[in-house]
Amino acid sequence: MNNDLSYGDDYKYIPATSIESGTGKEILPDLYSHTVQIVNISLVGHPNTNEFVLVDAGMPHSANEIISVIEERFGAGSQPKAIILTHGHFDHVGAIIELVQRWSVPVYAHELEMPFLTGKTSYPEPDPTVEGGMISKMSPMFPINPINLGDHVKPLPEDGSVPHLPGFRWIHTPGHSPGHVSLFREEDKALIAGDAFVTVKQEYLYKVLTQEQEISGPPRYLTTDWPAARESVKKLEALKPSVAITGHGLPMTGGLLTDSLRKLVEEFDRIAIPAHGKYVDKSSK
Ligand SMILES: [Zn+2]
Ligand SMILES: [Zn+2]
Repeated sequence: MNNDLSYGDDYKYIPATSIESGTGKEILPDLYSHTVQIVNISLVGHPNTNEFVLVDAGMPHSANEIISVIEERFGAGSQPKAIILTHGHFDHVGAIIELVQRWSVPVYAHELEMPFLTGKTSYPEPDPTVEGGMISKMSPMFPINPINLGDHVKPLPEDGSVPHLPGFRWIHTPGHSPGHVSLFREEDKALIAGDAFVTVKQEYLYKVLTQEQEISGPPRYLTTDWPAARESVKKLEALKPSVAITGHGLPMTGGLLTDSLRKLVEEFDRIAIPAHGKYVDKSSK
């Protein structure tokens, strides 16, 4: 037990799940996505090697599930070279302390996400008033207090490279959180988008349950900077990704992805921004 590692004092199990929970998909030979309750983790690397990284760290109390997914794909006793975080929200760092303690691997995140990962700053309170369904209504129970990874977490390299993922670069895609990043591989235009946009209307429990595929902006209840979120989606659309794994919802590929992203950019106000909410003001529209 390493005493300088801790979750926030509001850390807890969140009783929300989808029909995809506990299932995984190989999207590309070296890109695997697995759903933990309502959030996706990704494993990047060929299963016949021991060179892989884990992107994001699931929901609270999901460490055993993540470890068995990894051991099933890479073999017993396997561990990633590093954990890369798209951002530090509770549903992306839910098992990280147990994982870091087990593997002693470094964690990388954007510089601007550090205060939320080193015990300094809480995330802003979720806004349950954004129109939307049950997940929005549940959002006041979501943990927002900072976890503390101490010196296990390091800033991503300034040159845009991603440690242990040659071929990928990180792209700053703020709005949903200040230091949110997406990961992009030019060679095959593979994108790990985190919550910069998602493929399910995350606010609605029944849509999350059934995982009905529908492009959406970042989950509304936790997004605080809508103008930045819009610019981030534009940035990602301009890359013309061929496949996208998002933090929530099923992976999207090909023409559906291209068309959906274009539509999201063109109709960002209608599709993404809530009509009302405490982080929405006239300047966002
Ligand atoms: Zn998030
Ligand atoms: Zn999320």
